[in-house]
Amino acid sequence: MNNDSGAILVISGPSGSGKSTLLNEITSDIGEYYFSISTTTRKIRKGETDGVHYHFVSEEEFKKDIKDDDFLEYAFVHGNYYGTSLKPAQSALKSGKLVIFDIDVQGNTVVNNRLGDITTSVFISPPSLSILKYRLESRKTDTQEVIDRRIMMAKKEIQHISEYDYLVINDNLQEAAQTLKSIAKASRLKIPMQDINEFAQRWEDI
Ligand code: ADP
Ligand code: 5GP
Repeated sequence: MNNDSGAILVISGPSGSGKSTLLNEITSDIGEYYFSISTTTRKIRKGETDGVHYHFVSEEEFKKDIKDDDFLEYAFVHGNYYGTSLKPAQSALKSGKLVIFDIDVQGNTVVNNRLGDITTSVFISPPSLSILKYRLESRKTDTQEVIDRRIMMAKKEIQHISEYDYLVINDNLQEAAQTLKSIAKASRLKIPMQDINEFAQRWEDI
């Protein structure tokens, strides 16, 4: 039995844990997917493109979207707003795609409360705090002040691992990518409760 009505994969983890790097490694090999492009009020980073990495907007525009009920979920993270647009995710789900959300722990709670029966969640962690510091500093995309704030946040985020279905420790990149790929493939096979009930009802007649 396959879930052909789409499924959701939530990926969370501290900034610098390797979420983008790992996703880049696996997306050519997980079938049809839709990566949700979040909207944010944070400043664009070197190497990022508006409409590709995020939709970068002003706080005023973001608050208008909240008022218009455009978000499946939104949260205030690291001093900026981030939100997941509802409509594109809904239409990707309808066409049977795997919808991938790179969102924080608050977003995971909301998505699980609203769409838990089609959602699989995975937390990506660096092997240690000192390795996270090293990777954030080597990435050279943030000031020391921003890095210090992200490290502080990471200590809090790690406390939420038990809210996730899976933990992937991103030590060796290729090994972590293989694990994440298996999780992504399995997440498509998660069957919504309604489909299970329908199957159970039809089962004797098949
Ligand atoms: P995130 O998307 O979670 O913020 P990134 O994918 O940008 O994190 O990764 C942060 C930095 O760590 C990048 O410079 C990336 O090249 C590096 N990195 C990611 N995974 C590994 C790994 N397994 N080993 C060494 N460096 C890594
Ligand atoms: P960054 O600024 O490093 O791109 O992202 C900071 C944090 O915001 C990360 O933990 C990321 O997962 C989270 N984030 C990005 N988009 C969203 C979103 O739409 N909703 C929520 N709740 N968190 C998000």
